[in-house]
Amino acid sequence: MGALAIYPGSFDPVTNGHLDIIERAAGIFSKVIVAVAPNPLKRSELFSVEERISFLNEVCSKWTNVEVDSFTGLLVEYAIGKGANIIIRGLRFVSDFEFEFQMALMNRRQAPSIETVFLMTGAEHSYLSSSLVKEVAALGGNVEGLVPDIVLKSMLKKLQKKGS
Ligand code: ADP
Repeated sequence: MGALAIYPGSFDPVTNGHLDIIERAAGIFSKVIVAVAPNPLKRSELFSVEERISFLNEVCSKWTNVEVDSFTGLLVEYAIGKGANIIIRGLRFVSDFEFEFQMALMNRRQAPSIETVFLMTGAEHSYLSSSLVKEVAALGGNVEGLVPDIVLKSMLKKLQKKGS
């Protein structure tokens, strides 16, 4: 498919669930831009946008058609500016659906030419979220294998600093 797709999210931090979606998207679309959005309202930030971008750059370097970027403001405006006609979102549970459906329809109203495409995560990642990983790690739980190794190391370092 000769389409340029944007995969937007907070990615604070990137998890193996996100990577599952990126890999699937990279296999379908000619180019995928993973776009980091600061999302101060949604939850407390652990990593800065720069740190999140640097993790993503490292873990996405194996895909030649994946690029990492960041944006602020309206997603559809950013997508139009990039010449993209697809927005990718990952779906985990039915509980994701309500919010995602609402957002996809609002985005369509803003920019009818942009289509939101949902990709289903692998079952092994279906319970994973950045916030849950952060919460468990902060409480001393084991999150090995749920996030890339570089993220795991930085997260533990950061949480140690915060705690001391
Ligand atoms: P946002 O704040 O935009 O929800 P996230 O970084 O939490 O940003 O998620 C970005 C996208 O990735 C969303 O579409 C979300 O549903 C999806 N996603 C998050 N975790 C997973 C996962 N474990 N498997 C598949 N998709 C996921």
